[in-house]
Formats: sequence, structure tokens, C-alpha cells
Amino acid sequence: PTNIENICCIGAGYVGGPTCAIIASKDLDISVTVVDLSQPRIDEWNSSRLPIYEPGLQDIVEAARDGSGLNPVTLHFSTDVKGAIHRADLIFISVITPTKTVGVGAGQAADIKYVEAAAREIAEVATSDKIVVEKSTVPCGTAEILRDIFDAVGDPQVRFEVLSNPEFLAEGTAIADLLSPDRVLVGSEGTPSALEAASALADVYSSWVPRERIITLNIWSSELAKLSANCMLAQRISSINSLSAICEATGADIQEVSHSVGLDKRIGPNFLKASIGFGGSCFKKDVLKLVYMAETLHLPEVAAYWKAVVDIKNGKRTALAGTTVDGKRIAILGLAYKKNTGDTRESPAIDFMGSMLAEKATLAIYDPKVSYNKIIHELGELFGHEAVARYVKPCENAYSACRGASTVVIMTEWDEFKTDRLTLPPALDLGDLTASRLTTPTVKRADSVSSGIPSSQSEDRSSCDDDGLLSPGTPPTNTNSPAPELINQAQ
Ligand code: NAD
Repeated sequence: PTNIENICCIGAGYVGGPTCAIIASKDLDISVTVVDLSQPRIDEWNSSRLPIYEPGLQDIVEAARDGSGLNPVTLHFSTDVKGAIHRADLIFISVITPTKTVGVGAGQAADIKYVEAAAREIAEVATSDKIVVEKSTVPCGTAEILRDIFDAVGDPQVRFEVLSNPEFLAEGTAIADLLSPDRVLVGSEGTPSALEAASALADVYSSWVPRERIITLNIWSSELAKLSANCMLAQRISSINSLSAICEATGADIQEVSHSVGLDKRIGPNFLKASIGFGGSCFKKDVLKLVYMAETLHLPEVAAYWKAVVDIKNGKRTALAGTTVDGKRIAILGLAYKKNTGDTRESPAIDFMGSMLAEKATLAIYDPKVSYNKIIHELGELFGHEAVARYVKPCENAYSACRGASTVVIMTEWDEFKTDRLTLPPALDLGDLTASRLTTPTVKRADSVSSGIPSSQSEDRSSCDDDGLLSPGTPPTNTNSPAPELINQAQ
């Protein structure tokens, strides 16, 4: 099809939901249906409480999903995967591509079984020509696997065109990124019919993206460009963190070093904030995808180079372990891996809490966008429901989390932790802080790691979502009440 009237997106997640909401709000002639296997997730998308938080998303979804004034209903959420595939001219595959946990390549290679399952479903259901678009971040060469599936399973009368159109949005700024992307990649196999399909997809984006930012390229370049962008961003974070280790040992100040280095126009200031390593669902797995690809291509030096990016991150994180906090109350402010999202995947807060729970600390947790149930459920799955029921106390705000705490750990750079801190009420009972301060060398190290972290990272725009850095800001300036010791940490 060269004129797209009906779009289906398989996977109603952090990428599928916001991306389709924007398409549906910009292309009023196109009907967009986002499908998912998870009924609860779809129910949430159809409710006033969306399953993910992104600034600006709610209004856009509601306008397109419910229609308003002269605007038609253009956005639908459904679990009828087959029906939506059947009707669609163009289908985005936007399912997860996690790291394999078993079999060949376990711990590094991408598990593309969800992408393959979606392709098989499309092949089985399609009775008319389809443009199938890889939206998920996949290893270079995945399009060939999809092509094989369509050739083997699909109706020979149906033409399947496979395109690569990776997503570069960052969680927390998804709507702004989607509305004004640095570039949109449309990769195709380069045959006349593939180029026609690429042009049809480019037309969809051209409703709001300037043509010069829509790049058509070969499909393997497109797949690899997305992986490469994430790897380069992760590499910058690990580079600055490796330098912060040298600062700690020498008395140099990483904040001054990073500022000075970033002023060089050839280098630039973004992604140069020291932290305890990147978080989020994408950076680690995407770097490991590249490592595994390099290994299978017999490029051991290339694999070792990129592997170091992940190793440096892990080294930083374990610097927090081993603190003695038995019986103490630790306030954890923030659980999401960065501000303006409720996503906790690969959040450094989780690693940290695991080590604190092992030490039998009581954890008073507050995050503006992570619900009580999610905290209890996710931590319970990871660390045991019994331990979580006993030691984890989700709190309704930062003040109640801090009350009586010996230590406050700012894990996520939510703005409210920076601004509210200045207005702590004098009457706030912060407990016996001086008596129970944590003074182990490990925690001190964590403190000094973080002391070089600047207070905002909002100008950074990552390609996956995972700019992953946390920037908690400076210690409290409130002089009216005793402040808890702050261990500032960054992701
Ligand atoms: P997600 O977990 O939020 O959403 C994936 C959804 O797909 C889930 O709701 C799941 O139930 C559904 N699903 C899985 N298999 C299905 C099937 N066969 N049929 C129907 N639904 C199915 O994942 P995400 O964060 O949106 O990531 C999706 C892809 O996009 C990944 O490859 C990721 O690397 C990439 N990506 C993510 C981001 C991000 O910010 N999260 C940014 C850019 C790219």
C-alpha cells in the first residue's frame, strides 16, 4: 500500500503508546490501533489512568482516543491483535527486545523472540499487502529473519515489505522528542517496492516532521544506527564516570573537569555528568547487543571495547554495597531510573535497595510516579515478598519518607526533591540524625562520587530513553531544621 489509512502497532508500551498517540493526533485521516497481549495494560490505556507517565501524554491520548469538537477519534487500544493486523496497511512491531537469559549468547545477545512472534502472527493473519516496520531496537540483520518468516509462513499472494524505523525518543521527554525529532530513519531493502513502502512511511511522518529530517537509508544501516547511537551515549556516561574515579583518587573535581571538557565544541556538554552509571531498559542491553554482534563477527577487540562501557557502569554501582545499616531507617527518594517517568527498569535504586535489604535496613520509599502497589510488587518479586512486607515502607510524600530517617538517599532527580527541600518545615521531625549517621567508608565514597553531580540533565536527549543519568543536586540548604545526611546518587 502506498497510501496509509490504517496503522496497527503491536506493543502498547513506552514506545508504541506515545508514538502512536502522536501519529494519531497529527494524521487525522489515519486510524491507529495499538494492540497488546496484556488486557490490564490495554484497559489502562482506555482509562483516565494511563499505564505510563510522560509529560503531555495524557492530553494527547485523550484527544485522539475520545475525539473532541471537530476532531475525529483516530486512536484505539485493543487486545484484538488479529483483527487490527487484518485491517492495517502498515504494522509497527514495538515489542521488547531484552537480553537473552538462556541458550547461546545468554547474558549478551538480544532475545528477538517477541519480534519473531509478532511477525509470525502478521504472516498468519494477513490477507492483503502489508508494510511491516521494525520499531523495536533490534540487532543488525533482524529484517532478514522477518523476511524469512514472511516467505515461509505468509500467503504467497500477499506482499510483505519490511522497513526499519527505530525510535529515538527518551523517556521523560517522549512527547517533545516525538514532536520534534532530530531525525527519523526509514530503512528499506532498496528494491522499487521497498522504496515505495519507505516513501509511504515517510509521508506519515511528514505531517509534522520536516522532510529534511526524514532520512531514507539501507535497512542494515538503519538497524545499526539506532544501536550505535545508544552505545555512543552510554559510552560518554561511562567515560565521564571513569574519569570521576580518577578525580576521587587525586582531588580533582569531576564537575569542574566535565564542565571544562564539555565547553569544547567538538565534545559538547551533554551526557557528561558523573553518576553511578546509566539506568533504564535500553543502554545496557543495547551495548551488550553490539558486544555480542562483534563477537560473532570475530571482532574481539571491538567486543572488548564496548564491553568496558558496561563494566565501568557496574563497577560504580557496587561501590555502594557493604554499608552497615541494620535496624536503621533509610529514606529513598525516587525509584524511577530518571525523572519524569515511572519506569523502574534497571534503576540503580533497585540495586541499592537490594544491598540495603540484605543489611536489614528499613526502607521508606517515595517516588511521585511509582505507585504503592508497583513498589511492593516489583521489590517483592526481586527480593522476596516476606522481606519486602517487613522492611519496605512506601510513603505518600518525601516528608513522610524522611521522618525519622537516619539517612536520605536521593535516587531520582525529580524537581520536587530539589525545590521542596528549600522549604522543609522547621517542625519536621527528622529523628536522631546525628546519632545514626552512616559513616562507613563505602557510603562516604558514594557521597563523594555524587558530590560532583550537577543538578539538571534536562537538555540531554537520549536515543533510547535512557539518558539514564541522575542528577540530584546539592545538599540541603535549609537551615531551620536539622537536615539528614544526603547521599546523592546518579543513574
Ligand atoms: P514495553 O515493555 O513498554 O512494551 C512492550 C509491550 O509489548 C508490552 O506491553 C507487551 O505486553 C507487548 N507485547 C509483547 N509481545 C507481544 C505480542 N506478540 N503481541 C502483542 N503485544 C506484545 O517496551 P518498550 O519500552 O516500549 O520497548 C519496546 C522496544 O522499543 C524495545 O526494543 C526497546 O529497546 C525499544 N525502545 C525503547 C525505548 C524506551 O524509551 N523505552 C526507546 C526507544 C526504543
